[in-house]
Amino acid sequence: MPVVRRVLVQGGGVGGLTLAAALGRRGVEVDVVEASGPDAVLGVGLNQPNNALAALDEIGVREQCLAVGFPFEPLVIWNPAGVQVAAIPPPEGRYGRPSNNAISRPLYNGILRAAAEEAGVRIRTGATVWEMAEDADGVEVQLATWTGKRTPPVRDEAASRARYDLVVGFDGVRSRIRGHLFGDRYVPEFTGSANWRITLPRPDDLTAIAFALAGPVKAVLTPISPEQMYIALVTPEPGNPRHDRADFPRLVRERMAGFSGRLGELRDAVTDDAAITYTPLEQVVVREPWFRGRIAIAGDAAHTSTPHLAQGAAMAVEDAVTLAAALDEHPSLPEALDAWYRRRRDRALFVADMSLALLKQESGAELTDQEAALVQLGIPGAQARIAQEAY
Ligand SMILES: Cc1cc2nc3c(=O)[nH]c(=O)nc-3n(C[C@H](O)[C@H](O)[C@H](O)COP(=O)(O)OP(=O)(O)OC[C@H]3O[C@@H](n4cnc5c(N)ncnc54)[C@H](O)[C@@H]3O)c2cc1C
Repeated sequence: MPVVRRVLVQGGGVGGLTLAAALGRRGVEVDVVEASGPDAVLGVGLNQPNNALAALDEIGVREQCLAVGFPFEPLVIWNPAGVQVAAIPPPEGRYGRPSNNAISRPLYNGILRAAAEEAGVRIRTGATVWEMAEDADGVEVQLATWTGKRTPPVRDEAASRARYDLVVGFDGVRSRIRGHLFGDRYVPEFTGSANWRITLPRPDDLTAIAFALAGPVKAVLTPISPEQMYIALVTPEPGNPRHDRADFPRLVRERMAGFSGRLGELRDAVTDDAAITYTPLEQVVVREPWFRGRIAIAGDAAHTSTPHLAQGAAMAVEDAVTLAAALDEHPSLPEALDAWYRRRRDRALFVADMSLALLKQESGAELTDQEAALVQLGIPGAQARIAQEAY
């Protein structure tokens, strides 16, 4: 029997919807407020490693993800000319096969949303928390409507105040719930690199994620369906410049100048700016308990990871199912939140710290002693640790 009856989740992304579904299935009344409208652009695709698939099994959606995704085993390494030079077999671990499943982000979001709604969750889009007042018995919340991220939220005068036993901020790297808890103690920092994602037709022989490095530029090719793949390009972007969308194809081709062969052919096929997204890579890691009283943060809001281990969303999903379990297993809310944080902290922070260390190594930045020790482990060592450790 969960120690909470009513929960508000801010953020209807991967983590927020998973938590909502996991709590709804336990009979908890859950509201989700999501700033983006129903037509939000959700991005291209991502990889679900098998630890994410195991956590998704807890809310009954693993098979649906596999049915629409692209399962694969080894990670393939290409040279800058696009010739395969190695294949890293997946580590043996506790989470079984397939080791990975690449999936379209909109399809993934749709699966999670349907799971939450089936579990009785109410999802309100174009909405956010305006203010919260916490007392010993609950949190009183006033909502605001939010019509777009470039304009401020507008207090929703018509909306009555609602009370919740717990408010969880799964509201991403720019989390306002994190700001409510910690002020400006934790703000996202630009890592010096950015990610370009270019959607292209999938070559028939691209059946697993393929990595290639040319100087400080990394290209990762990910098949997400029989028809489609995307190239994720990680590039140093000193000074965090703002680029015009119209320049995206030219900038991508310039950044891929060090690639040749089949990668050069793919580069030369990049002409459509509509098929390209650009994301400056930011990092924020909260190194103290992710809750105060009845308000908590999780996922990217608490520990953002650069994509170097493809584990950020996996950590958000793990956070979600373990939080729901902790609320079920412990006799009081403070004990449940404390146990959950202790269970999650080392694993999630390892992923965040290791991912940033890999970014810095690849971009030629100076490493701290701790980062130098982490990169010694390498991607296979990090993956083995994640695959062998229980979430
Ligand atoms: C380029 C790139 C590639 C990646 N590839 C992978 C990968 O292959 N595998 C993997 O596991 N991870 C990957 N990640 C990481 C992954 O995308 C994130 O870790 C994951 O999305 C975090 O989930 P979340 O639910 O915590 O936050 P998000 O997915 O960011 O969701 C937060 C939600 O909250 C909403 N929101 C924000 N502010 C408010 C507000 N004030 N009020 C209401 N709603 C709000 C947002 O609109 C959003 O829907 C990648 C990240 C990047 C940048």
